[in-house]
Amino acid sequence: MKKFSLKKRIAGSVAGMSGYVPGEQPAGGNWIKLNTNEFPYPPSPKVAEAILAELGDDGASLRLYPNPSSQNLRRQIGKYFGVPAEFAFAANGSDDVLNLAVRAFADASLSIATLDPSYSLYPVLAKMQGAKILQIPFKRNMQIDFERIFSSGANIFFFTNPNAPTGVGFGAETVEKIASGFGGIVLVDEAYAPFADCSCAPLAEKYENLIVTGTASKGWGLAGMRVGWAVANPAIIEVLDRVRDSYNLDRLAQAAGAAALADAPYYAQTCAAVISERADTEKFFDSVSWKYYKSSANFIFFRPVLNGKTGAKIAKDLFEFMRSRKILLRYFPNDKKISDGIRLTIGTPKQMASFKEAALEWLRQKRERI
Ligand SMILES: *Cc1c(COP(=O)(O)O)cnc(C)c1O
Repeated sequence: MKKFSLKKRIAGSVAGMSGYVPGEQPAGGNWIKLNTNEFPYPPSPKVAEAILAELGDDGASLRLYPNPSSQNLRRQIGKYFGVPAEFAFAANGSDDVLNLAVRAFADASLSIATLDPSYSLYPVLAKMQGAKILQIPFKRNMQIDFERIFSSGANIFFFTNPNAPTGVGFGAETVEKIASGFGGIVLVDEAYAPFADCSCAPLAEKYENLIVTGTASKGWGLAGMRVGWAVANPAIIEVLDRVRDSYNLDRLAQAAGAAALADAPYYAQTCAAVISERADTEKFFDSVSWKYYKSSANFIFFRPVLNGKTGAKIAKDLFEFMRSRKILLRYFPNDKKISDGIRLTIGTPKQMASFKEAALEWLRQKRERI
């Protein structure tokens, strides 16, 4: 064999990059998993029914390729958001939509802009595509710097709303201001919109540069199924269709996604339970005087306070204490702006009671040592 160097064979944009690091998905049970913003309740019972119906007695339908454009699922997406089905696109999780949007609308000469902090997958996707990314910091009190977005010269602007990892939500007027003031494509990542009680997807009929993405992973209890979507003008959908895998959603995922979106009453109830638990958790943080952003999502970003102080060390200590009690949280040691905070997914009342109890125990133990 000739001398072979893999290093020299890797595409330039990929050679210097690292992949996205997802939150820990521990093997084995007994964890209280409050680290990756999954829904704490099972999906609608209609989902399992739809999957079983798709499988039939012997799974014979799996021999055949699925519907290439996820037609029925797109119809349900359109129905759910009150837009024509031509405005709907379905993909293998919304990360897949984001990846396709970057593939279609960014390259070495077409740059990307995001807010900072926001979803940490965007810079990874940008690097993969060899596209420049401009991360625009929030102004004081999480105010958006509109002028910098408008003058960024970016081809596509990613707007996570509600924001991750802070949970701060912005209203439709903010999205309209960005969509009308920014010259390029505006992608609003609405992974957490079910907990904000408002979606800007219908605005895609008004703004031809707007893409609104969503996922069944967070608000519909289907993270294990991989179903995501986009709502946009049909001309944009056509471009996304060009670059996607021709069978990008399997049969079971298509059936599950459509069944979930069709069961609005079930999700109205379960989302309300999450929102109510979120309010209780915020009250708990008030009671111990820990700082947090008022959340419009199914998680809260908070800064633990110990003897009047916050900081990366304190956040790390609490994270590790919780982990030793099999309570998994998310923290961000590599990002200085947020390394003093922790992101807590809202779980069931029982899970949150365990969290609160452990937090009080941590405070007792640490205070005694001083
Ligand atoms: C979780 C998340 C996604 C990804 O959702 P999937 O559909 O599971 O790929 C996208 N954007 C944000 C902001 C998220 O938090």
